[in-house]
Amino acid sequence: MDTFAVVNPATEEVIAHMPRTPVEEVDLAIERAAAAFPSWRAVSPDDRARLLRRFAGLVDDHLEELAWLEVRNSGHTIGNARWEAGNVRDVLHFYAAAPERLHGQQIPVAGGVDITFKEPLGVVAVIVPWNFPMPIAGWGFAPALAAGNTVVLKPAELTPLTAVRLGELALDAGIPPGVFTVVTGQGSVVGERLVTHPAVRKIVFTGSTEVGTSIMAKCAPQVKRVTLELGGKSANIVFADADLEKAAAAAPHGVFDNAGQDCCARSRILVERSVFERFLELLEPAVTAFRVQDPSLPTAQMGPLISASHRESVASYVQGPVAFTGQAPDGPGFWFPPTVLAPVAPSDRAFAEEIFGPVVAVTPFEDEAEAIRLANATDYGLSGSIWTRDLGRAFRVARGYESGNLSVNSHSSVRYWTPFGGFKRSGLGRELGPDALDAFTETKNVFIDTEE
Ligand code: NAD
Repeated sequence: MDTFAVVNPATEEVIAHMPRTPVEEVDLAIERAAAAFPSWRAVSPDDRARLLRRFAGLVDDHLEELAWLEVRNSGHTIGNARWEAGNVRDVLHFYAAAPERLHGQQIPVAGGVDITFKEPLGVVAVIVPWNFPMPIAGWGFAPALAAGNTVVLKPAELTPLTAVRLGELALDAGIPPGVFTVVTGQGSVVGERLVTHPAVRKIVFTGSTEVGTSIMAKCAPQVKRVTLELGGKSANIVFADADLEKAAAAAPHGVFDNAGQDCCARSRILVERSVFERFLELLEPAVTAFRVQDPSLPTAQMGPLISASHRESVASYVQGPVAFTGQAPDGPGFWFPPTVLAPVAPSDRAFAEEIFGPVVAVTPFEDEAEAIRLANATDYGLSGSIWTRDLGRAFRVARGYESGNLSVNSHSSVRYWTPFGGFKRSGLGRELGPDALDAFTETKNVFIDTEE
């Protein structure tokens, strides 16, 4: 079979070759998933739960192996990669509690009994980007499987290795063949076929807003269900009354974690004008101290970018006012130093577009109203942070900022037991949290006549 090379972005070495699956084989995988659906949905809730717990246990047993695979394939720091593999385990455990709790309702009606069922959809396709290959895969497949669906998962071309390993671990855990299948290959072939194949009942897509928009349009003719997790340009809003030392110390992690290749990266810092210069003074040592290193070192806080072409794209945004930069290693690897642009005008391309790299735009604002207006002045609305000691202001700004996931006086990361998703062009629907099962089930209403 035709294959493609998988590269270690920290060394530029080829570390594997993976199949470029042709359309006919994608169709076979979908047909096997469709054939496996009736028996998987019929597995009793307690047995389905037990299988998912066993899968979680195997992920835990292989946590180090999965983490090191991600370090080599994605250039993630070993610290992050361990968290990511642990996140798959935890998400599986969380949704392993769902099969026995997938309750319907009993609704009072005259002349009978009315009850609802949460029915699985059938085959669910999960299409994953390269920036967080493990967690994003798990956020899709764990609740989908728990609800009784079968899953075909397509990892990104650049980062397929951990997904393939997770597929093997699912089989080892006793999840029947066809219930969870991983298919590698191109978006334009494998991804496209998952979107157009009529037996696929739902697409869970995480990736760029551009591809997500085209997928949504292609789902329309079949009224195919779709969940979209797309781009972001999140604001980190710092008011003059905040603990500035703490806000400045936390800001690099909020944007440069995973080399800024994070849909939730706080890639704009909006600072109240009266403390703008002071904040930059505090930010500079925090940025220069940020450790960009070989990602296998336990001290590394940031690794390389994912590819040479992505590095070119990130570099294209570094024009105009570079306030200061951090360090990055020389030699092979797609390295890019943490870069602070300031002051950036709201009309600037770096203010509104997702850069998806370690580049942050710092912009002053006059007052609370302008902070909210600037925070909302992009097409995106995924994440954001608000730094203030004024609780009333924190709530006012949180309510005014059109964004799905906000944190006050922190850059809290995604928690698997709270809902996650975007406003505006950052996405459609919510993943994780208590309600994710709704995205993988249809509600069926049944009325039973009890009249004589
Ligand atoms: P991408 O859109 O290029 O690709 C994502 C996936 O879609 C890949 O698996 C790709 O092969 C596949 N794909 C590409 N073309 C396709 C098509 N025509 N039909 C079906 N599938 C297709 O995105 P990327 O570059 O891998 O990831 C980066 C983007 O993902 C960023 O914009 C980032 O913000 C976004 N992202 C969003 C979230 C979130 O939860 N909102 C999380 C992570 C990443």
